[in-house]
Amino acid sequence: MNKRQTTINRIFKLSGIGLHTGREVTLEFIPRREFGIAFVYQGQLIPARYDMVADTRLSTQIAADGKSVSTIEHLMAAFYYSGITNCLVYIDGPEVPIMDGSAWEFYHEIWRAGVYEFPETGVYLKVLRPVEVSHNDAWVRVKPLNTLDITMTIEFRPPVGKQRKRLMDVENAVSIINSRTFVLHEEIEAIRKAGLAKGGSLDNAVVIGGEEILNPNGLRYKKELVNHKILDLIGDLFTCGYRMLGKVEANKTGHYLNNRLLREIFADPDNYAIY
Ligand SMILES: [Zn+2]
Repeated sequence: MNKRQTTINRIFKLSGIGLHTGREVTLEFIPRREFGIAFVYQGQLIPARYDMVADTRLSTQIAADGKSVSTIEHLMAAFYYSGITNCLVYIDGPEVPIMDGSAWEFYHEIWRAGVYEFPETGVYLKVLRPVEVSHNDAWVRVKPLNTLDITMTIEFRPPVGKQRKRLMDVENAVSIINSRTFVLHEEIEAIRKAGLAKGGSLDNAVVIGGEEILNPNGLRYKKELVNHKILDLIGDLFTCGYRMLGKVEANKTGHYLNNRLLREIFADPDNYAIY
């Protein structure tokens, strides 16, 4: 395991459509000496950190001084998987582009830019005591462990049903990185009525209508939906600012509970150690 801080090896840009605004957004990735991932929107620096999270209803949104950036979770997962701990992301819109609905393009572009290693350490957060948060029948908990080990359970109406997946080799999982976001067809109208998902299409989400998947090519993996929930969780956990070490078990969790788990961990310094 690499314990050193890292950044990207060169500047690069990436454009795409925002899922909710439907507008084209360009991201410019800049190497950073200072620790952590942060966005810059309209001149405002917004650290991609759990305590900056302002809204978790449809995506994870961070905000500072009246400026916000939403849907950061897939990009955060791409940083996690790339091993990047320090980076500035200049963004010219309020929402990270949805790309193909997964973290694949972000991951691929970061990989192409390469990794630059600093001598400084302090990139791991080791969980020292069990922490759990819940809401109705949804919960997420973490126990001490020397690696990151994730077990996720989701349950939706058929054809999704109940899906469970354990991911022990979190460091190396293409099938997580390129699993797409998904939506039930009956939810789309309500989301659109709220003025959201203007950029949504079969090109950037798995759409489940009735008993079937409406995308012409179907799913990328039999467990693509639970895989994507793990991707979201990894992206959200990385807003702790560190690479988490612990055994994470989750049932129907989402951005809201993922954020509450981090707030609970940081509420007591005896819950964790940084190294
Ligand atoms: Zn997602």
